[in-house]
Amino acid sequence: MLNIQSMSGETRFTGAFFLLAMTFVFLEFAYARLAHHEDTHDTAETLASASVGIGSVVAKVVTSGLSAVPFFFFYTHRIFDIPMQTAWAWGALFLGVEFFYYWFHRASHRVRWLWASHAVHHSATRFNLSAAVRLGWTGQLSGAFVFFLPLAWLGFHPVAIAFMIGLGLLYQFFLHTSFDVPLGPLEWVLNTPRHHRVHHASNEACLDTNYGSVLIIFDRIFGTFAQAPQDEPIRFGVKGRTASNNPLKIALGEWGYLVRDVVRARGIKNRMRVLFGPP
Ligand SMILES: [Zn+2]
Ligand SMILES: [Zn+2]
Repeated sequence: MLNIQSMSGETRFTGAFFLLAMTFVFLEFAYARLAHHEDTHDTAETLASASVGIGSVVAKVVTSGLSAVPFFFFYTHRIFDIPMQTAWAWGALFLGVEFFYYWFHRASHRVRWLWASHAVHHSATRFNLSAAVRLGWTGQLSGAFVFFLPLAWLGFHPVAIAFMIGLGLLYQFFLHTSFDVPLGPLEWVLNTPRHHRVHHASNEACLDTNYGSVLIIFDRIFGTFAQAPQDEPIRFGVKGRTASNNPLKIALGEWGYLVRDVVRARGIKNRMRVLFGPP
């Protein structure tokens, strides 16, 4: 019963988030056109991102039950009871989600099995709000949620965890703005559009950096923080892959390459290396 309630709540949240996001995507696109900022947007690519975004919402709704069962299993076997009536509990949950999100995102770039879903988000060649809705369809299927299960085991309620992850994703949406928004001293603590632009860049110096969600402090602690290179222009898109505006190719293309490379590899050890090694 609780599972079904939380799932339908998550579905409504996902749908509302997507509609709100698309409104901002349209406003930014219209502004860029009116202000003749031709370099920030490509019409076909923006439309492709919107199509991929719609697919990701459908996929999320269809597959959300997959994570509900393990979350409630771990919560049933929790080691502490954490009542969510205090600011301390919400603060601790925020830090916990930030910590596990950092490792989930870092693994999504370093483990090819997870990269197959996450590469979708990095495939746009222009950095703007439409890139934020260009999300993978297969994240749930590939088990990305396992990174957050320790929080349920610790005693945070799964609905509270899902809510906090959702808030982080809402914040991250605005990190993809094509406007340069310097945030002064906040750049030390928070993930900002400037930091996330570097995360999306395919320049050698920018690869595998700035994995944070709301905070950038875990990148500073674990040595993955980087600032934009001063001596070269920033490029976007997945290194070594040709960009496509076909939504199916964007959403599932990396899985195709992964299957091809697994079939080509010889022996179980090499196949495991392809699946779980770095992209
Ligand atoms: Zn990423
Ligand atoms: Zn992003």
